[in-house]
Amino acid sequence: MLVVMQSHATDEQVRAVCERIEELGYKAHPIPGSVRSAIGITGNTGIVDLGTLESMAGVAECIPVSKPYKLVSREIKPENSVIHVPTPLGDVTFGGQAVAIVAGPCAVESEKQAFAVAEAVKTSGARLFRGGAYKPRTSPYSFQGLGEPGLKILAAVRDRFGLGIVTEAIDNESLDLVERYADVIQIGARNMQNFSLLKRAGRAKKPVLLKRGMSATLDEFLMAAEYIMAEGNYHVILCERGVRTFSDHTRNTLDLSMIPAVQRRSHLPIVVDPSHGTGRRNKVLPLSRAAVAVGADGILVEVHNDPERALSDGMQSIVPEEFAQLMAEVRQIAGVLNRSLN
Ligand code: PEP
Ligand code: MN
Repeated sequence: MLVVMQSHATDEQVRAVCERIEELGYKAHPIPGSVRSAIGITGNTGIVDLGTLESMAGVAECIPVSKPYKLVSREIKPENSVIHVPTPLGDVTFGGQAVAIVAGPCAVESEKQAFAVAEAVKTSGARLFRGGAYKPRTSPYSFQGLGEPGLKILAAVRDRFGLGIVTEAIDNESLDLVERYADVIQIGARNMQNFSLLKRAGRAKKPVLLKRGMSATLDEFLMAAEYIMAEGNYHVILCERGVRTFSDHTRNTLDLSMIPAVQRRSHLPIVVDPSHGTGRRNKVLPLSRAAVAVGADGILVEVHNDPERALSDGMQSIVPEEFAQLMAEVRQIAGVLNRSLN
């Protein structure tokens, strides 16, 4: 259910409607808009008693939301959401005019490695650094990440280079720590339907980058985002990272049609990860160009200074020179669409 306020409704009136909704036992989600505000209602399994709300001061109308996802839906918020990530070098935005670039190694391996990659990606113009301190690996014998010491290295990257930090939480325990150190909390493909983790991310005070599960449908992807928003965290960035298919020339099949499909149904920004999406270094550049051309709000890409010796995902990591080329090429493509890079 959505309560649409009149364009001249006051903050006081919005507050009164929210209070009434909560009194009725539901959760109210105020959604400011450029023309008028709206209030999403969740927690209602049946029809909300409209009479009481519709007659309140400042209310224009109450409309049922037909989709199973509500807060992520464009029905509830027609305008794009722009998520601001503060960094020492200024805000990076997702979902606005500019295309956001997130670059760094799959895993933080040492301070030396993280600093080398951070310096390189910063020189090419990136302002957000990625790197996992907690790695969800297929094999229990593979490198699992440095844990909290890895987060401390990421904090040192922010201090030294001014880059914002994007890093993954794999369970509620690591999320507590990641929330403290990171600027954006990543939820990985394997955890897209870890509902207790999604709820915990929904209570976090930092933006969440939610990756599509490797066999998730559009509805499942959006419902996972709904879990986060239903808890009150509206700062969700979606990420297409490829799905499992029969193709064996790539690790995954990057489903670029997901971008316009999401944009049609949701106001949330969506970025593309061409590294996991292909699994092959030589395909990262062409698919990055395609991602910007299709309308993605950003790119998340793995860069390593010595990929042959990387402790994870070396095969799909590009080297700093290739990243410099990627930035130059995607900047040109963004320009054709009247977008810039940030
Ligand atoms: C990653 O970003 O390094 C990662 C593990 O990604 P995904 O969850 O998409 O596999
Ligand atoms: Mn990786």
